Amino acid sequence: MRALVVGSGGREHALAWKLLQSPTISGIFCIPGNGGTATLAGCRNLALAPSDFEGIARFALVNNCALVVIGPEQPLADGITDYLTSQGLNVFGPTQSGAQIEASKAWAKALMYSAQIPTAQARVFTEAAPAIAYVESQGIPIVVKADGLAAGKGVTVAHSLETAITAIEAAFAGEFGAAGHRVVIEDYLTGQEASVLAVTDGHTIRPLLPAQDHKPIGEGDTGPNTGGMGAYAPTPVVPPSLLERIQQEILAPTLAALRQQGILYRGVLYAGLMITPTGDPKVIEFNCRFGDPETQVVLPLLKTPLADLMQACLEERLDQFPPLQWHTGTAACVVAVAGGYPGAYKRGHSITGLEQAEAAEDVCVFQAGTQRQGQQLVTHGGRVLGITALGDTIDGALAKAYDAMTYIHFDGMYYRRDIGYRIKNH
Ligand code: ATP
Repeated sequence: MRALVVGSGGREHALAWKLLQSPTISGIFCIPGNGGTATLAGCRNLALAPSDFEGIARFALVNNCALVVIGPEQPLADGITDYLTSQGLNVFGPTQSGAQIEASKAWAKALMYSAQIPTAQARVFTEAAPAIAYVESQGIPIVVKADGLAAGKGVTVAHSLETAITAIEAAFAGEFGAAGHRVVIEDYLTGQEASVLAVTDGHTIRPLLPAQDHKPIGEGDTGPNTGGMGAYAPTPVVPPSLLERIQQEILAPTLAALRQQGILYRGVLYAGLMITPTGDPKVIEFNCRFGDPETQVVLPLLKTPLADLMQACLEERLDQFPPLQWHTGTAACVVAVAGGYPGAYKRGHSITGLEQAEAAEDVCVFQAGTQRQGQQLVTHGGRVLGITALGDTIDGALAKAYDAMTYIHFDGMYYRRDIGYRIKNH
């Protein structure tokens, strides 16, 4: 069968690559895709926007796409699943009502409180003055979050009152558009962050291997947040016993709470967690889709055919699906970005060394902000590409990823050299 993947990041390159390894998949279309999916054997890019629901439905129906996988959150929050499903397509990704779990932090908090999911205490405000008064009464550190989708930029971890107040004023002044008309103010949590992506058919939920990413641009987790600078899986921060607790205390009750709201949630539920110093997991956020770059380390370890797993979710038979099979060892990913990112950056720089990097053993290059211009591959985004390597240990995987990265070159290229540093001391 043919499948269609919506999105253009490293996550979508990894999804297309993994789906093509499923025996049931004969071909993939990627909308709009990137330079990597353009040259992936069996995959074809299509110049449609992820917001063009009608165009996507028409194409998928005419081309007999039996499975549609949605990568990014924005189309999910805008109701792409509702629309494509109404046209008779099978869509892996939640409906608009389910996507609220990511698209509104206030909604997600209310859901978590209703199901007693462990998370930071928080209050929701629709005006600046009471929000500022609350922050003054709570003291610092404190976390200020725009309610809606703000491309990872709507969260301020404030270590001074001034920073917190500036963030509140900026949100209500419209810095994040409608996403900041409501603000969630949350207690500051300490510990190690981990990402648990889980697949669900709305009734049963199964976690994938736990991962850790690195959001800040700078080494030692300094500087502004990015979409993600690197990741590894599985992480020793979430051993199997803790994963079982996360399943029992967070994933299963969240799914039940969604069902109680009348939401049949099918796709990926991604729990962004803080593993607190006592060892208890608390939810920082939920996302309604595969994580990026976590997907680039979790999928290469998955032995089970991804298309079969997704089909089981869409046919609501995940409870009968065999246990997920995984490769042993660790996967690590290092992301190379354009100079200036996450601020302003230039595009159009030619990228070299890809063939040599890809030829290295146990290495995959997942492209993100790249574009084919004739025979040339050029930069076309902030996060340009990620190199994932498999190894027996995290150190082994990282050494292979960093070795392969030495082949890659483009003007202004930057990557963190300390991916994995947090678990080196674990
Ligand atoms: P993204 O879209 O990049 O996943 P987001 O904008 O949805 O992120 P969150 O994941 O809620 O925002 O927060 C971003 C980062 O801020 C977290 O990864 C974490 O490092 C930090 N953070 C958020 N909430 C808290 C908290 N309560 N305590 C400590 N740190 C926090």
